Amino acid sequence: MRDGIRQFLDHPQLWLTIVVAIAICGSFVFVANQFFSIAKNAQDELVNVRVGSLLDAFAPLASEVSDRPDMLRTYMKRMQELNATIVQMDIAEQKDGGWIVQLSSDPQREGEKVYRQDLLLSLASSDPTNSFTVEQVQNGTRYFLTAKSIVDHSGSVRGIVLTKQSLSAADENIRTSLQSAVYVLVAILLAILLLFFKHARIIDYTVLYRKLREVDTLKDEFISMASHELRAPLTSIRGYVEMLRDGTLPSDQAKLSLERVDASAKQLDALIVDMLDVSRIEQGRMSVKPVILDASAALADLAESWRRPAQEKGLALKLDIAPGLSIHADPDRFRQVVVNLLSNAVKYTKAGEVGLSAKAEDGAVAIVVSDTGIGMTEEDREHLFGKFYRAGGEDVRAQAGTGLGLWITKQLIELQGGKISVESIKNVGSRFIARFPRASA
Ligand code: ADP
Repeated sequence: MRDGIRQFLDHPQLWLTIVVAIAICGSFVFVANQFFSIAKNAQDELVNVRVGSLLDAFAPLASEVSDRPDMLRTYMKRMQELNATIVQMDIAEQKDGGWIVQLSSDPQREGEKVYRQDLLLSLASSDPTNSFTVEQVQNGTRYFLTAKSIVDHSGSVRGIVLTKQSLSAADENIRTSLQSAVYVLVAILLAILLLFFKHARIIDYTVLYRKLREVDTLKDEFISMASHELRAPLTSIRGYVEMLRDGTLPSDQAKLSLERVDASAKQLDALIVDMLDVSRIEQGRMSVKPVILDASAALADLAESWRRPAQEKGLALKLDIAPGLSIHADPDRFRQVVVNLLSNAVKYTKAGEVGLSAKAEDGAVAIVVSDTGIGMTEEDREHLFGKFYRAGGEDVRAQAGTGLGLWITKQLIELQGGKISVESIKNVGSRFIARFPRASA
């Protein structure tokens, strides 16, 4: 799950796909909404205009035959039959301050009071030239109530014709269209999802391609490093062996030559050990078995073995190891880490001192290997723990090295639950701080 989230965060393309998906669906919903509200208004307007024209034609007729209620009633019934949306048609009159149904397509309603439409009817009676409509919702169905005055020859209002039209058919139309829009939206979402998966596969390939290129670059770096690091000691070994075999070497230098051959062989051995460590770590085969370790004693021991190499380079070895520090670490891997850091400190320091200190921190023990050596730039610090990385410059190139030591060191520390950091100033010196989980003594 966490890996999935990390992958997701690492790929801005996925964010882009989601944003595009949301934008497409959002735009669709917005446009569909606009469309349906326009369509609904247009339908309402149409119904309104139609009933208005119907009443415009009916009102003068009603005025003409007002003395023949049966005929009027028949007209009203006929109109209702011809217009399925009209569910009720009445002629109302004002009586005793209220409105009473005087004539209706449904005779049972005659004599009833018009329910709560006083305002509509008053409006219609005050303006005989226009028809007026209000919307009413009953049991989830929308209705239009439309009123128009019936005026006699003298211009006085004789009554109001009032129709009730159901909008259910129109609304049903919109509802089915809305349903189809939802299906289309689901189809769009599915299409986006399909594209998304395809896209995800392309991203996978891109990641794979990037990894392959990284591996390819690493391979090139490895070949160039290995050819140099293998060739230099081998050439030296072969040179001395040839001189010894040919007897061209002065006898007093034989011992020195053998020591150099030994040093070159050790250099080759170290290179092979480094490469094996890299391969073990990468394949997850590096055995790390943390135990409770007396770090103070282990460091004091290590410091003793580094006193001579430091002295040989004219460097002072300064120790400041707090007593009784216990950590969780694999003794061999712990040793390997400290040796790597100490050997770098000695290797990259021309004069001054190398320091080894250890102190307890909150939940950890911090082991600091410091030097007054060549130091490094900020850019070097950023790449320092990468595989094969070696800082540029004569000072570094002059020293044998593979650029693998710090990568291995960092991996080993992390495998033991620790952390490593570095502080350094070019031409002033460096401080490597390795933190290991503290164990209660
Ligand atoms: P190597 O020492 O074999 O080159 P490392 O991985 O141990 O490889 O170190 C990587 C690089 O980090 C070195 O090549 C060097 O440039 C830089 N470095 C490491 N330790 C120090 C140090 N104590 N002072 C200055 N530079 C250092």
